[in-house]
Amino acid sequence: MQILVTGCAGFIGYHLSQRLLAEGHTVVGMDDFSSGQKINSDALRQQPRFRFVQHNVAEPLTITDHFDQIYNMACPASPADFDRRRLHILATCSRGPWNLAELALRCDARLFHASTSEVYGDPLVNPQIESYWGNVSCNGPRSCYDEGKRFAEALLAAYRREYGLKTRIARIFNTYGPRMRADDGRALPNFINQALTGQPLTVHGQGQQTRSFCYVDDLVDGIIRLTNSAVDEPVNLGNPVEITVLEIAEEIIRLCNSSSTVIHVPRPQDDPNIRRPDITRAQTLLGWDPTVERSVGLARVVEWFREHPPR
Ligand code: UDP
Repeated sequence: MQILVTGCAGFIGYHLSQRLLAEGHTVVGMDDFSSGQKINSDALRQQPRFRFVQHNVAEPLTITDHFDQIYNMACPASPADFDRRRLHILATCSRGPWNLAELALRCDARLFHASTSEVYGDPLVNPQIESYWGNVSCNGPRSCYDEGKRFAEALLAAYRREYGLKTRIARIFNTYGPRMRADDGRALPNFINQALTGQPLTVHGQGQQTRSFCYVDDLVDGIIRLTNSAVDEPVNLGNPVEITVLEIAEEIIRLCNSSSTVIHVPRPQDDPNIRRPDITRAQTLLGWDPTVERSVGLARVVEWFREHPPR
């Protein structure tokens, strides 16, 4: 197939593109480097069936190729980006999928869209199931991302109902792996780089908030299964093993054989208290289950950051 991947220089977009190339497809990768990294697009450019287009997906698309599938992975997604690039994120989440929906209609392509566990906001149920409508602030500091992604789901539902567009939507939970941006402000890159350099690990608040971390190869497998399936309702993709932020900080200190300690720093506003996916839908409809143990996955990321320390 001929496939478009937007956000190909981002962490997940990169791994997805590599996997699609390995399966024998031709991939056009698009990125504007607002949060993607050149090291990723440069690595993809080594591949014969890959072509790179530098473009902001929120701007009108001038690309004239035919695509069988489109994967929309483009959007800054770290909470630190929500402060740095809020208007850019709103444009990326609204005009981006709108442009891609038109392109997909023209090509009669399937459109995969990367939605997020943030559509559940600070959830009042645990684990979060797709039928849960969420607990989201429509104007708080995370609203550019949360409401942007909710708008995108509404937009694609409208395109599906109005024009029969073949949409595939995954709600992606916390994901980790090699090539995460070292400076993106997220817990895992921060903690690992702090542990590797002997600095204190900056745990927000008491660290009793929870997250559930999925290794990127598992996630990419779920994304591809979903896109090739007939499932057009949103599907949670994530690893249901839940852990507190303090526990994962301590786990990383041990894994790095580090002498670092933990310090408690103020917690950002609206930081969700709990997060864990109910993946029954993915299990039953896609036959998907994450397989990579956290200790194995984390060891690979530690290795990556040892070899690629932040500059
Ligand atoms: N966090 C932390 N220290 C950091 C960065 C993040 O304690 O240096 C916390 C953050 O407040 C949140 C959790 O770790 O509760 C996961 O944050 P991350 O930025 O990785 O992503 P999120 O799940 O909030 O989108």
